[in-house]
Amino acid sequence: MKLILLGAPGAGKGTQATRIAEKYGVIHISTGDIFRANIKGGTEIGKLAKSYIDAGKLVPDSLTCDIVKDRLEKDDVKAGYLLDGFPRSLYQAEELSKFADIDLCLNFEVDTALIMDRICGRRVCACGESYHVSTLGGKTTCAKCGGELYQREDDNPETVKARLDTYNVMTAPLIAYYAAQNKLATVVCGTKTPDEVFEAVCEVLDKLD
Ligand code: ADP
Ligand code: ZN
Repeated sequence: MKLILLGAPGAGKGTQATRIAEKYGVIHISTGDIFRANIKGGTEIGKLAKSYIDAGKLVPDSLTCDIVKDRLEKDDVKAGYLLDGFPRSLYQAEELSKFADIDLCLNFEVDTALIMDRICGRRVCACGESYHVSTLGGKTTCAKCGGELYQREDDNPETVKARLDTYNVMTAPLIAYYAAQNKLATVVCGTKTPDEVFEAVCEVLDKLD
């Protein structure tokens, strides 16, 4: 199973990706996570990516595409993978089509009015789990692994606004792009809980294999 997860920032791609990877045994590849790990490790890639991420812009295509291409050459993805946050532009989608054959693009449709609160209230754990402050009841550690929760640096109102603009201009055209290839499935998130969204996701994926 080779999947793409598409959706505006805050649509819940990361949360669903973790669950899909667990249930269907596919490797979760998140370009955002790769960039954040590089920033944390102080690598050249991290230094280059940071200014773009802080500004809510896309990291340059050449760098991003190379990273994904290299990752997809590793052996562990042979049984299937899940791309979370890539492709994010028509150019990236065209590049991807040169080195990968995708089965399906899952598009998460979310009410944009909810996004600002969702993202600015988000707290994440290094293990990949994320939470919303409204449901934490003051807790500051991860229920799954006990790790300390923190807020992503780009989860602030100004950067979120820029990320939404970037999504609308650069990424949203991918919905029509994959629909035209008959490779699009849309999951409407609305105000559904992560469990309810995952149920809808499984319904789609169970038909795939
Ligand atoms: P979200 O979906 O919540 O916005 P991500 O973790 O997917 O967050 O991405 C964080 C940032 O990393 C993006 O705003 C962008 O700057 C950069 N990034 C991630 N994926 C890509 C990509 N495919 N192309 C260019 N930049 C990317
Ligand atoms: Zn955790």
